[in-house]
Amino acid sequence: MKTIIEPFKIKSVEPIRFTSLEEREEILKKAFYNPFMIRADDVLIDLLTDSGTAAMSARQWAGMMDGDEAYAGSRSFFRFEEAVRSLTGFKHIIPTHQGRAAEKILFSLVGGRGKYIPNNTHFDTTRANVEFSGAEAVDLPIVEGRQPSLLAPFKGNIDVAELKSLIERIGPQNIPLCMITITNNSGGGQPVSMANIREAKGLLRQYGIPLYLDACRFAENAFFIKTREPGYAERSVASIAKEMFSYADGCTMSAKKDALVNMGGFLALNDDALASQARNLLIVTEGFTTYGGLAGRDLEAIAQGLEEVVDEHYLTYRIRSVEYLGEKLAAVGVPIVQPPGGHAIYLDAKQFCPHILPAQYPGQAIVCELYRVGGIRSVEIGGVMFGKYDQNGKLVSPPMELVRLAIPRRVYTQSHIDYVAEVVQEVFAERNKIKGVRIIEEAAVLRHFTAKFQPLG
Ligand SMILES: *Cc1c(COP(=O)(O)O)cnc(C)c1O
Repeated sequence: MKTIIEPFKIKSVEPIRFTSLEEREEILKKAFYNPFMIRADDVLIDLLTDSGTAAMSARQWAGMMDGDEAYAGSRSFFRFEEAVRSLTGFKHIIPTHQGRAAEKILFSLVGGRGKYIPNNTHFDTTRANVEFSGAEAVDLPIVEGRQPSLLAPFKGNIDVAELKSLIERIGPQNIPLCMITITNNSGGGQPVSMANIREAKGLLRQYGIPLYLDACRFAENAFFIKTREPGYAERSVASIAKEMFSYADGCTMSAKKDALVNMGGFLALNDDALASQARNLLIVTEGFTTYGGLAGRDLEAIAQGLEEVVDEHYLTYRIRSVEYLGEKLAAVGVPIVQPPGGHAIYLDAKQFCPHILPAQYPGQAIVCELYRVGGIRSVEIGGVMFGKYDQNGKLVSPPMELVRLAIPRRVYTQSHIDYVAEVVQEVFAERNKIKGVRIIEEAAVLRHFTAKFQPLG
């Protein structure tokens, strides 16, 4: 097998800025050890997120020029609607400015006090929108999904037996819908199998509960099904995606992921009455029904991106480039979530720094060290992001403490990734010197974005 290469050549480049170790130490201090508060210009390799960070293609940029900015009935909307409909098969396609706007609209309508929303694992904004409506967000990953080092093909699956017991305990009337996140972002970017989606749907159908996909990484998930699930090797990614969507009653989508754009999203669904309520809410909060919170040119770029993302040369390169980083780290014993997910490598911070207690946020400490040593920006997915306080104000930590190295789509080359592996290896070699952090200021919801930290000791 020859090297799997980037299936594109580069037409336009953007310089990255080099900083010294001393500068980075100062920058970290000024940012209160929170990577969200570091200026992007001070970052060498930005692996904070794969969201909205993709490089667009020449065709997408051409589409931007061709965008129709009509307030109502824009040609670009119809192209967008057609692209989403042919991919998903859903009846109503509602554009929003990003994924969380679709979530906000959906959960404002179906959520509320006394309601429960199960999911394989809620993404942070999804959980926040469910909880903001007054409803409870319930994570039901399979047990394998909580064991970082375990190798299994579909660790993103939802636990169908747990789902059944939840429905029986809470009552189907209190579960307005069930979500499945593909791929399971907060659970390590792990895919969900077609069999699991089908089985969950079969159960939900018996109780009349709709299934919605959080479809941000549908193409990466479909590619994993093609390469890992028996019976799908010969199918096109587009047809696998269509089958996944066929089991669902709707989806929310952040186009900033698998639509290869910098901004955008949508809500798509089959329920006429709910769609009509959603459109009314859209007009109040986002904009008219044919643009949501987007410009015509954004809709054009999304439509084009959705065509490009199901290309198998693209997906082969995409999945391989993430796996390549994972292999380099695992080869020297760096503990990562196995197998590598679709969009990111997740370091297992508990194993990486067993000397740092969960209450001292080992993931946040590693994030800071990666920046200090190599100018790499990553993000903690653990106690900072998902920690809660009980009635006595004691921190309740989530099951896993992870550091996510998210790979932007079509942005970095293999040598950038080699450099990242070298920095992580260096930090790992000196891991015993890393100290925990404490929070000195935080917000009530989504605290990881703005919290201020102080290193311990
Ligand atoms: C990014 C993301 C969202 C939210 O989308 P935004 O465009 O950032 O608002 C929801 N769910 C998952 C799984 C995501 O990765």
